[in-house]
Amino acid sequence: MQILYAFAVIATLIFAVYLYWRVFLQPHLQIPIRSFAVHDLVERPSLTSASDITVNQFLGFIEEAKAAGLRFVGLDDFLSSTDHRDILLTFDDGLESIYKYAFPILMKNRIPAVVFMLDAYEGEAASWDYRSSARVHLSAPQIEEMSASGLVTFGNHSATHPDLTRVSRDRLTSEVQTSTDKHRTAFSYPFDRFNEDVISAVKHAGYMSGFCLLSGRPSLWRDDFARPRFPLNRFDNRFTFRIKLRGGKLMWLEVVKSRIIGKFAPFTYDWQGRP
Ligand SMILES: [Zn+2]
Repeated sequence: MQILYAFAVIATLIFAVYLYWRVFLQPHLQIPIRSFAVHDLVERPSLTSASDITVNQFLGFIEEAKAAGLRFVGLDDFLSSTDHRDILLTFDDGLESIYKYAFPILMKNRIPAVVFMLDAYEGEAASWDYRSSARVHLSAPQIEEMSASGLVTFGNHSATHPDLTRVSRDRLTSEVQTSTDKHRTAFSYPFDRFNEDVISAVKHAGYMSGFCLLSGRPSLWRDDFARPRFPLNRFDNRFTFRIKLRGGKLMWLEVVKSRIIGKFAPFTYDWQGRP
């Protein structure tokens, strides 16, 4: 009897999540999600961060993308492409691990990518993040070398990684502005937190496109300044990569999962006392 009861509860929960997908999420995802976001790359999975992926996971993702007949393209090609086989690989936060682990793999496979930087932390420890101590941001020479490869382009991810929906208007303007000497045309929202005001500030700062993840407001996903990306995280494996890359009947599970994991991200900001 107890087993039957447990089964009924689980079945109801799954059905509720499916309904949530059909009613609230799917209507806003008429186009497939063709861009992907990586945060930090590590050699071994850490217990403290769901957003890390291991180097092996990263290699697995690339293999699955190739096996699915998809093509990694650069930012400009991605924005102008109508071919659903063209996909975009992005990295948020601009951590040194991108240079150390991802860049050699990108070079070897000739894969273009976009790195979204935190201007105020170039070459510095990631003290904006509670897990920060050992994490360091890309240095100027590393950025230069990656740029010179012709494979990696850079976008902005704000200056200091605040929740842009909770800062003053002046702070919002200064967080999204891009210095003229390294004008960047794409922006990604810290903690996936954005609203119409944030999007409008990003447009006014001169960006041509904006990228989010899947935890923000679905009604904004159709905007060119809120292009949804599938985050890759430590709970991913070859099977979930396949779903994320190829779509199909189980995609709703991955979208809901990404949404739930993403909802936890802004706690980092609260933990830090909203700098
Ligand atoms: Zn970030």
